[in-house]
Amino acid sequence: MNKQGAKNQEEQYFSEVIKRIKKIIPQGKFKRRNPYRVLISTILSQRSKDENTAIAAEQLFNVYKTPEELAVGNLNKIEKLIVPAGLYRAKAKNIRNVANILVEKYDSKVPRDIDEMVKLPGVGRKTANCVLVYGFNEPAIPVDTHVHRISNRLGWVDTKTPEQTETELTQVLPKKYWIEINELLVRFGQEVCRPVAPHCTLCPLNDICPVGLANIKNIKNTKKHKKIGS
Ligand code: SF4
Repeated sequence: MNKQGAKNQEEQYFSEVIKRIKKIIPQGKFKRRNPYRVLISTILSQRSKDENTAIAAEQLFNVYKTPEELAVGNLNKIEKLIVPAGLYRAKAKNIRNVANILVEKYDSKVPRDIDEMVKLPGVGRKTANCVLVYGFNEPAIPVDTHVHRISNRLGWVDTKTPEQTETELTQVLPKKYWIEINELLVRFGQEVCRPVAPHCTLCPLNDICPVGLANIKNIKNTKKHKKIGS
């Protein structure tokens, strides 16, 4: 098969996979959000549950609505507001430093550039890619634990770290899916392809997923053995 044929086949494959996931995980309408809020919320979300991050972010943004306000915020007060997100001392320092840098270096705006964003305290590639996607509506692939796990299970990539997954995914996943892939796989990972005991028997990808095919074979073999043994 020539290069174009292989590319078409790849496009068809991803189109089919995403269609099947969307059938069981209906998507909300994609809404671009304020980049400052996306950036600060994503820093707060590190090692925190979504619901706790949401409470902390709401409390914080009720008081500090802009980078200018946060940059001069009282550290103790910031800590108290973000307690629900956990690691609140380190996170409070980071977000206030980030706000200061935004004010001093970037005219109180979040830079629309991943290389600049990752220079900010507490900001790695996942956070920066989240800001590009959810704050600027720019094609990028934020790789969190769900995206990393599912991409490997489905055989899209063969990687050990989220950074490697991001690099490999940008090579195989057609660009038109980059903006939506994070949200889609996060919800798919919470509800179906869970970290432990994924629901392979109910999964719409179980006929094309190497891990799913193996899991289902094991389940059938276990049942067969039980029957023989009984
Ligand atoms: S078949 Fe199982 S491992 Fe594969 S994507 Fe579905 S739930 Fe995940």
